[in-house]
Amino acid sequence: MGKKMSAILDRNEREYLNRVIKYPNQVQMFHKDSVQEGFEYFQYQGQIKNNSRYISVIINKILAVGLKNFPKMIKIFIKNMPTITRGKKECFTDTNEYLDEFEKTEKLTRSESPLIKNYPNEELWRELTDYAWDKWKVIIGFTELPNQLIFKGKAVLFKFALVCIQEMDREQINKAPKLSAGEEVIGVYASLGLAVNDIARWLRNKYGIRCQSNHPLGGLVDTSPLAAKAGMGWQGHNGLLITPQYGQLQRIAPIFVEDKLFQFTDNHEHLWIEDFCKKCRKCEKACPTQAIYSEKQPAIENVPGIYQTRTCIDRLKCYPQFNKTLGCSICIKVCPFSQGDKNYYKIKKALKNKLKDEEKLEAKKIV
Ligand code: SF4
Ligand code: SF4
Repeated sequence: MGKKMSAILDRNEREYLNRVIKYPNQVQMFHKDSVQEGFEYFQYQGQIKNNSRYISVIINKILAVGLKNFPKMIKIFIKNMPTITRGKKECFTDTNEYLDEFEKTEKLTRSESPLIKNYPNEELWRELTDYAWDKWKVIIGFTELPNQLIFKGKAVLFKFALVCIQEMDREQINKAPKLSAGEEVIGVYASLGLAVNDIARWLRNKYGIRCQSNHPLGGLVDTSPLAAKAGMGWQGHNGLLITPQYGQLQRIAPIFVEDKLFQFTDNHEHLWIEDFCKKCRKCEKACPTQAIYSEKQPAIENVPGIYQTRTCIDRLKCYPQFNKTLGCSICIKVCPFSQGDKNYYKIKKALKNKLKDEEKLEAKKIV
């Protein structure tokens, strides 16, 4: 791993990657077309200083958020950062047992769970989705992970992915770009991180299934297109996932699983969102830094299940606003899909009628 990359990663991720990338044929490696993870991209571009001197970190943050907002930002960090740090660490340390065995045998062995032969394990799927919802208010999809969605320089242990989604509170996000919206974003990063670690442990301890959770903040894979592939929604004009349940009010994190234990949830039911976004463009108009491209630019072609990934945002324009507000969220707030759980269906119906009028229904493949 290059020195610059190695300086950017947190210690647990660095140690994990140093161990697994020696075995590129045994693990799931990034693809030649893969893109760089967002926070690393900002560090490469010099937007985030990789500075261990706390005083300069604090001064930079005061300059970004302003002196008035600084005490509130510190409170938000004190409340959430220990949980986020613990969650990020445990994603990697929880799989140490697999890695120790891997290094001894040079083989990533599979468990002997009878569940592997019992595909599609419908009863377990029900139990798992109930557990995730009852304990964490998390909804789940299941799909195969395309290597193109693994960020540049990263690797994951298993090829199949449970995609976990947790809602953000609409009332708080409606306060964007105030810090209260940022507090909600960070709070859901923290709680979803705990959730995926817990759900992965539940699968390991109760059923012996080998799996690897990954934190929603600065993860190993690009989760919005992964959730779209899992049929949970589709990416909107700003690149964020739109789901029927929450619109854009969610965070996403995966759990990688050793085998195809469940039926894939993949579908194209939400593809019509592309047509709606072409007519809407509210996020583009509302973005205070004009960071959302009018035309999305293809990033990776031939991605199984979702055709291609696209670059929707000029990250260098978004970052200063994102940084000073702890996540900005204006584009999430103004999205019509974020206005209530019935909105997805209302919008779909209205678009369907409009397209019917235009006699374009067949071509647009609305189900
Ligand atoms: S997060 Fe804010 S700055 Fe970034 S694209 Fe959305 S509205 Fe624009
Ligand atoms: S605001 Fe409009 S254009 Fe932007 S993602 Fe939402 S629906 Fe699509």
